[in-house]
Amino acid sequence: MSEINPLLQKFDHPPFSKLKTDHFKPAFEKSLKEARTEIESIVLNSDSPTYKNTIETLEFSGNQLGRIASIFFNLNSAETNPEIQKLAQEISPLLSEFNNDLLLNTDLFEKIKHVFDNKSTHDYSEEQLMLLEKIYKNFTRNGANLDKEKQARLREIDKLLSLTSLKFGENVLAETNNFQLHISDESELEGIPDTVKESAKELAKEKGKEGYILTLDFPTFIPVMKFGKNRGLRKQMFLGFGSKAFKDNEFNNEENVLDIVKLRLERAQLLGFESHADFVLQERMAKSIDNVEIFLDDILEKALPAAEKEIEELKTFALECDGIRDFQKWDKAYYTEKLKQKTFDLDEETLKPYFELNQVIDGMFEITSKLFNLSFKKDETIDVYHKDVITYKVFEDDKYLATLYADFHPRAGKRDGAWMTTYKDQFNHDGLEERPQVSIVCNFSKPTKKKPSLLTFNEVTTLFHEFGHALHAMNAKTTYPSLSGASVYWDFVELPSQLMENWCYEKEALELFAKHYETNEVIPQDFITKIKKSSNFMEGLQTTRQVSFGKLDMAWHAIKNTESIDDVKAHESKAFKSTELLPEVNENCMSTAFGHIFQGGYSSGYYSYKWAEVLDADAFELFKEKGIFDKSTALKYKENILQKGGTIEPMKLYKKFRGKEPDPRALLKRAGLITD
Ligand SMILES: [Zn+2]
Repeated sequence: MSEINPLLQKFDHPPFSKLKTDHFKPAFEKSLKEARTEIESIVLNSDSPTYKNTIETLEFSGNQLGRIASIFFNLNSAETNPEIQKLAQEISPLLSEFNNDLLLNTDLFEKIKHVFDNKSTHDYSEEQLMLLEKIYKNFTRNGANLDKEKQARLREIDKLLSLTSLKFGENVLAETNNFQLHISDESELEGIPDTVKESAKELAKEKGKEGYILTLDFPTFIPVMKFGKNRGLRKQMFLGFGSKAFKDNEFNNEENVLDIVKLRLERAQLLGFESHADFVLQERMAKSIDNVEIFLDDILEKALPAAEKEIEELKTFALECDGIRDFQKWDKAYYTEKLKQKTFDLDEETLKPYFELNQVIDGMFEITSKLFNLSFKKDETIDVYHKDVITYKVFEDDKYLATLYADFHPRAGKRDGAWMTTYKDQFNHDGLEERPQVSIVCNFSKPTKKKPSLLTFNEVTTLFHEFGHALHAMNAKTTYPSLSGASVYWDFVELPSQLMENWCYEKEALELFAKHYETNEVIPQDFITKIKKSSNFMEGLQTTRQVSFGKLDMAWHAIKNTESIDDVKAHESKAFKSTELLPEVNENCMSTAFGHIFQGGYSSGYYSYKWAEVLDADAFELFKEKGIFDKSTALKYKENILQKGGTIEPMKLYKKFRGKEPDPRALLKRAGLITD
């Protein structure tokens, strides 16, 4: 191809409009080669290893590769097609091969180790030490310090683990897909929303059947459990969902759970840790198993009495409504929803006219401007990958801070959900400041000719959430790209995002943007009160449930030997014992389908959902105390959290901002679980 490849030219903003899918492969190949050469030059350097010629050179290597990869994988999420997807299958192995070769490069590791071992003889800054440690640990946590034999076993374990996790996921998926509940009589579906019934009907038609087919997919399962009046149907669905990969068939995951747990423990112990959780928590704000357990128990102590009361309330309500005397797990979501509707009488459709997308965005920008002196100017000269994408140049006072891409509406080729991502991270190389290019991607309903895009309240908080991540990335002020912005420990990364959500519940903030799109009327106080109260509805039960999952995760991963564990269900029941409020269901098992911890990356990390909530509640309490638009509190937050990324231990950063360690009481108070 003689044509110019825009990815191999110098560019600042991604040259989307000039890009063709064909450009990626040669660009990846060339930039991978360059990155390998850069690394090779570190190894071949005959000078003795220094921070600059080893750590920094490694940190700033592969810059072009990183930029091309970020464009490619962001497109694969936000604007993909079969060719991009096919190419991703080819590119991903190339990148993992590159990464594996890097981590197995013993000559390179020797040099890194030399710098690491001699760090006390140099006067490195805190940020330099963080980077050194991050890079060093990246190698040692993958076995760089082990002898050949142990290294070989580690590779074997990694292979086995990835195969077993894959098998685990395949079994859960197969069990989800194999479940199909055929209903012929519409009256059995009473209460279930029409849209859900529609798709159940379509599915039946596809399968050549009359009536309806219900599946365990979330968009079907959840509404059935919440709205399905038919108790027998709810029970069938609940058992179908809860017994996934726990039945006596080829998709049973009990063996896989035990294998994964054993392999993880063996891997951790090879590396010198007592347990898998110890291994994971080394790189978390929580630091130790003790801290996680104390944290969970502390919250449970307050949540459990509330949960017990709430269960009694639900039982009484179910008895009154339908004469139910033996309240079961498959009744919980249904009566919770019913009681919630009765208590608040506030539905999404009533609220939506107050949340027109453009007004919400303007309000969000105004809040940010009040807090952090940021301003957002639309800039249509920046190249985009789809005409729906809006681009802003962001200024701090009057200085260019970042570029923000916003891509709000669903379309074929965009995956579900909402996320923040970057096309370029902030860094400072040899005195040259590079400002970040940040993107938020959502799936809010599109405006039509007659109606603008009106958001549900949940979508409003989602927008603020992703924007909070974006603020983390945009405000970054660090030297090294891998410590910049949201590159922080896993249990710290949701602080900036969740913190922003708090403004959505405040009158002073809502008044800035929650205005009826036709009448311009500000959202009534009564609605604000209801939004707040309903967000805490059955909070004791919700919290207890989250804590119980965290406890189950730790029960599998904090163990130091697996000899006594041979029964998955028994081990799980023991972990759930202190949080179980309803009769146990023998046919069901959570662990055999707990993808978060056995398939995804949440092992020993499930607690972090609550952990992050504690952080954001405690942080927002300071804003409540000083005023939700208080500039000096905002400045402290910006300077100590947003700008610092991962350059300093998160607990240290937090204390600098807050003046103390985070206190779970703020969360318990916000959740209405304690009053003082
Ligand atoms: Zn998030």
